[in-house]
Amino acid sequence: MSTRSASRQSRCLKCGFEADSGSDEWNRVDAPPFRSLTQCPECGSTDVLSRS
Ligand SMILES: [Zn+2]
Repeated sequence: MSTRSASRQSRCLKCGFEADSGSDEWNRVDAPPFRSLTQCPECGSTDVLSRS
């Protein structure tokens, strides 16, 4: 069990929107053959940078 408080953030490269990587704030788009893409809810861009 991890108790780390550091959360992974993802940032939209287009508009700069930021939220936790696993947050419901992000939209998810199924895009085979990729597992899924994270889509920005603000501008709809899938150019989202995940930081770990
Ligand atoms: Zn955006």
